[in-house]
Amino acid sequence: MRFSERLTQPPARCTRRAFLAAVTALPAMAIDSLALFDFRRNFWINLHHFLYAQAQLDARDREAEAAEGWTAAIAYYNEHMISRSLVDDPDLISIKQRLSGIGDSATAAPAAFDAGLEKALDEAAPVYREHWWAAHDRANAAWVQSQLPRLSDHGAAVAGALGRAFDFPWPAEPMHTEISFAAHVNGAYTTLNPLFITIASGDAREQGDLGFEILFHEASHGLAGKLQRLLALELAAHAKNKSTPSSLWHAALFYCVGEVMRRNVPGYVPYAEQQELWPRAWPSLRRPLEEAFKPYLDGTGDLRSAVRNLVSQL
Ligand SMILES: [Zn+2]
Repeated sequence: MRFSERLTQPPARCTRRAFLAAVTALPAMAIDSLALFDFRRNFWINLHHFLYAQAQLDARDREAEAAEGWTAAIAYYNEHMISRSLVDDPDLISIKQRLSGIGDSATAAPAAFDAGLEKALDEAAPVYREHWWAAHDRANAAWVQSQLPRLSDHGAAVAGALGRAFDFPWPAEPMHTEISFAAHVNGAYTTLNPLFITIASGDAREQGDLGFEILFHEASHGLAGKLQRLLALELAAHAKNKSTPSSLWHAALFYCVGEVMRRNVPGYVPYAEQQELWPRAWPSLRRPLEEAFKPYLDGTGDLRSAVRNLVSQL
């Protein structure tokens, strides 16, 4: 699609202004769908996540690169970063946000990190730029480009359906979405306040229609607050909070987003089925989720009654 070619060209970071400029060239019907997400391709975000991912691997499984600065940066991440969660650790969340904020800066200095992290990033940066960044950013651009037709065709309908499902309106501003060759070991991840989505363009599980679901799954982390609160209240009211997996709300999120996708993308089979999440992660939850949420997604009752129905089956 010609309008999206701009997103594959330098500058590598797809700024919101550039993205919206591309969007405004589209027919009016498509604008809402394509303005749902603020896609960015940020060098520092990519470097940070690639270092984190490489440092998690055994040395023999890492991408071969013997440059001194790179080796030192991997050692720094190995020692100081990978024991902390990208999803939950306040420092790592702050680091990611600050890296996103420095855009195309030549050095990490504007992020004002401690000296050790700044040195690791600044020494790794030229090595990353020389060896990986061009290929990684091509993957990032290709990921965005591959999703634009789906967004144009289904984005508005899916966003509206998810807003109804979670009883929480889609935000007025496009969602901050960083496209990074590597992200979390499980693929994409999202942190809140402010909402910050990271999608792994290099992850085989996040391509094509599956990637489209993951995009909206991550977005739904920002819509699921009411679902989480209602579940917590209902579980507590029936003294089931200790006997129920703490990831129940996340299983419900997977179920609802997958079903919304199934209803909007012809022939689509949800991620949780394709990736066998139900048998692997939540073998006892699929049937209760289906019995509680399928009628709700079909238009019967409200979110509170679906939650009550679910908890009554646990
Ligand atoms: Zn999730």
